[in-house]
Amino acid sequence: MTSDSTCIFCKIIAGDIPANFVHRDEDVVAITDVNPQAPQHVLVMPVRHIPTFADFVGFEKPELITKVFSVAGQLSRELSANGSRAVINTGPEGGQTVDHLHVHVLAGRQMHWPPG
Ligand code: AMP
Ligand code: ZN
Repeated sequence: MTSDSTCIFCKIIAGDIPANFVHRDEDVVAITDVNPQAPQHVLVMPVRHIPTFADFVGFEKPELITKVFSVAGQLSRELSANGSRAVINTGPEGGQTVDHLHVHVLAGRQMHWPPG
């Protein structure tokens, strides 16, 4: 499946729901989170609908993984020189609420460990 018509992120990528894009290429997009958990909070995701991080296991296009992380790393660098946090919530116990794989990149405040 390359797109899911019921998926909010697929709708954003298709232009059916507005969002603030901070990166867009043929394979990867990044948008600002509508409910930011830090002064800077972006979501980096593949254009292709891949439900969860766990679905990357055995994925036929491993270069897409590299592209998602490359954009996330680039945005981490741009958002703050003082550090950042990248998070991938996976599945119900992982706290995932949108089943379209995305990397949260948060910056602009001191992060704490362990996460909630
Ligand atoms: P997760 O809980 O890890 O699946 O993350 C989903 C994220 O998507 C949350 O941080 C939400 O605030 C964010 N989100 C949900 N709907 C939108 C939207 N329309 N535009 C931007 N971010 C959204
Ligand atoms: Zn999707």
